[in-house]
Amino acid sequence: MNDPKKGYSYCMSKNILVSVAWPYASGSRHLGHIGGAYLPADIFARYNRMIGNNVIMVSGSDVHGTPITVRADDEGVEPIEIVNRYHAEFLSYWEKLNIQWDNYTTTMTDNHKEVTQEMFLKIKENGFIEKNKSIQAFDPKENKFLPDRYVEGECPKCNYLEARGDQCDSCGITLDPEELINPKSKINGNPAEFKETEHYFLKLSALNDKLADWLNTKKGWRPHVINFSKSFVDEGLQDRAITRDLDWGIEIPDNELGDGKKIYVWFEAVIGYLSASKEWAINNGTPEAWKDFWLDKNAESYYFVGKDNVPFHAIIWPAMLFAYGDLNLPTNVPANQYILIKGEKASASRGVGKTLNDYLDEWNPDSLRYSLASILPEQNDSEISEDEMIRRNNEELVAAWGNLVQRVFSQYINNFDDLDTTFEYEKIDEDLLEGAKNCFITTGEMIEKVELKSSLQNVMAYVNSINAYLNETEPWKVIKKDKKRASAILHCAITSIDACATMFTPFMPTTSKIVSDAIQKENQNSWGINEIKKGAPLKNIGHLFKKFD
Ligand SMILES: [Zn+2]
Repeated sequence: MNDPKKGYSYCMSKNILVSVAWPYASGSRHLGHIGGAYLPADIFARYNRMIGNNVIMVSGSDVHGTPITVRADDEGVEPIEIVNRYHAEFLSYWEKLNIQWDNYTTTMTDNHKEVTQEMFLKIKENGFIEKNKSIQAFDPKENKFLPDRYVEGECPKCNYLEARGDQCDSCGITLDPEELINPKSKINGNPAEFKETEHYFLKLSALNDKLADWLNTKKGWRPHVINFSKSFVDEGLQDRAITRDLDWGIEIPDNELGDGKKIYVWFEAVIGYLSASKEWAINNGTPEAWKDFWLDKNAESYYFVGKDNVPFHAIIWPAMLFAYGDLNLPTNVPANQYILIKGEKASASRGVGKTLNDYLDEWNPDSLRYSLASILPEQNDSEISEDEMIRRNNEELVAAWGNLVQRVFSQYINNFDDLDTTFEYEKIDEDLLEGAKNCFITTGEMIEKVELKSSLQNVMAYVNSINAYLNETEPWKVIKKDKKRASAILHCAITSIDACATMFTPFMPTTSKIVSDAIQKENQNSWGINEIKKGAPLKNIGHLFKKFD
């Protein structure tokens, strides 16, 4: 399928849906969240667009859910005020960091409500949603039922003391409030009681075998994702209530439960991937185009989420898709482990340290993207301080790549009048260019397997080989006695730098474009080595990155 001389060329482009976790519009995000989901998704999507695939990358702000109402209660404002504030803040992150969405929306749209209600009704018609009695946490003092996130207590599995009614943030298991040890109401800290109430349930137990079979067909998933998912299903799935006693949420269609109940957020938020795809198609003037991603059996879908979201994306969302019928299931859920930025503020309002906005304002976006991409927690939790990020910027990005571009460009520009384009390449030059061709292939293969950290290291290793080539060939000395040979070396170095700029584009789109645009070419491969115009002037681009003191 690919010709290493020309780079990749596909007979047919693939339809690829890049789905990214929906952030709750309940508070500022962290740099760790960006590295955990948004940046890797953007790198993956940009690469796939470059090689000619038909890509949509979708997500949006999750405006329902109790994190938002909890915060609104704390501040004494309406939930919509919280939602508008943080949705606007999230949009500023994407702009500052060059995250390129095809549709970044919210769960507040009429479209999302319609898609959710249609899905609810069809799953119900297919027999996988039914009414049932459940025991629900109740706050006797407030005289109301408590949604999961309004209940806190000790995790029955790991004994973490601040586990929530829906999930334990420490060990990652999903929970029901009655499983907590010493459950308390988050409203007033009093012990929660449990009373019977009626709700709609998703019959996950009836989908257990289908999910187990499907997970067994999955190859190439990250070990922590597939192992967690399989053991979760092996333990046997329990039916889960998908409605709650809430005012803030999407109305239940054909509601037979009575007032005061809404569709619960975990059921509708994952439907956002489908509703955002449909909204993208409508906005694009091609209302049927979402089908290319959801009905075409050759289409692929990738869900970029943090590890706390694995149950919802590798089990519950696939279960809902099975229950609905016809729609494509996830191709891969390349969930990341946690990334902790030492010294980052836990929230915008308290504590010392920096917020995400501080980082976004102080750092060149490509430097920040590089530093984060070089430590993506693809297999294990990772931890980094700003000092270490600065070291990676200064010693890797600036010293290896930025200085290489600077050094070769200035030699070429300063000696431009002496260049002799009648040169022929020697073996060492051919070897360097052969290295670029191989690097395109191996880097592309790694990105396709969502091994993004390794793919970035792979390109950096090639950058280092260009530096080694220059140290060996020493064009700055050769130019004094052999202009033709020096011209060959500089031409070869610029060809390989241009190749790096192409390969760095998914990771560092802005600076890569500056380098690429400065070099005149005979052709423009979207993912492959280019033939550089011999003897053409180079544009002076100055320093690409700032070195931190
Ligand atoms: Zn736990």
